[in-house]
Amino acid sequence: MPTPLELASLLVAIPSVNPMGGQGEGPEFFEERLTDALIGLLRDWGIPHEVHSVAPRRANVLARFEADPGRPTLLWEVHQDTVPTEGMTIAPFRPEVRDGRLFGRGACDVKGGMAAMLSAFERLARERPARAANVVLACTCDEEATQLGVRDLVRLWGDDRGRSRLLADPPAAALIAEPTNLDVVVAHKGATRWAIRTTGRACHSSDPSRGINAIYRMAKVLAALEACAAKLPSSRPAHPLCGPATLSVGRIRGGQSVNIVPDECEIEVDRRSIPGEDPAQVRDELMAAVRDSVDFEVEAGAPWIAASPLGDEQNGPLAERLLAAIQPIAGVRRKLGVAYGTDASTIAAAGVPSVVFGPGSIAQAHTVDEWLPIAELDAAAEILFHLAADR
Ligand SMILES: [Zn+2]
Repeated sequence: MPTPLELASLLVAIPSVNPMGGQGEGPEFFEERLTDALIGLLRDWGIPHEVHSVAPRRANVLARFEADPGRPTLLWEVHQDTVPTEGMTIAPFRPEVRDGRLFGRGACDVKGGMAAMLSAFERLARERPARAANVVLACTCDEEATQLGVRDLVRLWGDDRGRSRLLADPPAAALIAEPTNLDVVVAHKGATRWAIRTTGRACHSSDPSRGINAIYRMAKVLAALEACAAKLPSSRPAHPLCGPATLSVGRIRGGQSVNIVPDECEIEVDRRSIPGEDPAQVRDELMAAVRDSVDFEVEAGAPWIAASPLGDEQNGPLAERLLAAIQPIAGVRRKLGVAYGTDASTIAAAGVPSVVFGPGSIAQAHTVDEWLPIAELDAAAEILFHLAADR
């Protein structure tokens, strides 16, 4: 049986780069090769598994450890994809061990977490502890861009009930692997992203009075947005674990040439919601405020991301159980809220108490020399095993 480090190295060596909305030309893109490797491992271990195709070259892999059909089922969810490798200062797919760390793309986010889950899962299947819970391991695709994988997963106990043999009923609780340094993340922000467009009338810039400048109009929209962003922290109380709701404009595009009055301008908005806020409603509220402050038409595109925040109202008992499993292995840890989003909020929104847990630090995720502390990887595998075994 491979060690957690051997498993993590094997996973890092198999590229599974998310094209992040692009074409993804090149062999390193998409999850398909990692998916095949996972199927190979599960087959070698003799563990029942299913493959759910989600999009071309992208699939979720599910595996089930059945202890006793009468016991609760834990869902362990982890994403297969990594962010791209541009600008990396280390070889992204040649895992290297140095100073107690594993280096490579995905070592921290989140192939280390996946290795810990796989290792604990294989050990459960091999040792079959007497009081163990049932566990479904779900390795999903496309977390880093549009969360296609987890959205397909939650349909298995929702609209699409009956499609999966291994996950026919809603799980009792879910653990989502992301780098938390072995702390327990019980709350996080959500994100809503959409485009806003202003239009005008083009004309030659030698006589601008004949046209309507869409960039000038957008400047008024931007001023309104900046005022809304400044008011956000006082307009609703900050979440005790996640901090305040925020708003940021990250891109702008408009105009064709300096000698043409522009007839079009577009920006992209990122609104981070806190637990208690609705990711669709925050967009509608903001657009209403913008439209109130200008005297021309403003178009708002449909959000391409509307990810819910994760609240801590439902996951208290699960977090306490996990903290109790962590303590003898890695000492006293904390319950935390964070600003980044995870698949946990989608699973929680589908009615399943969910927390986020894994080895490594979010500070090393997506970096040019991504690494994972091997001691945390080993501890995470041990903790996960005991969480399921000593139910
Ligand atoms: Zn991640």
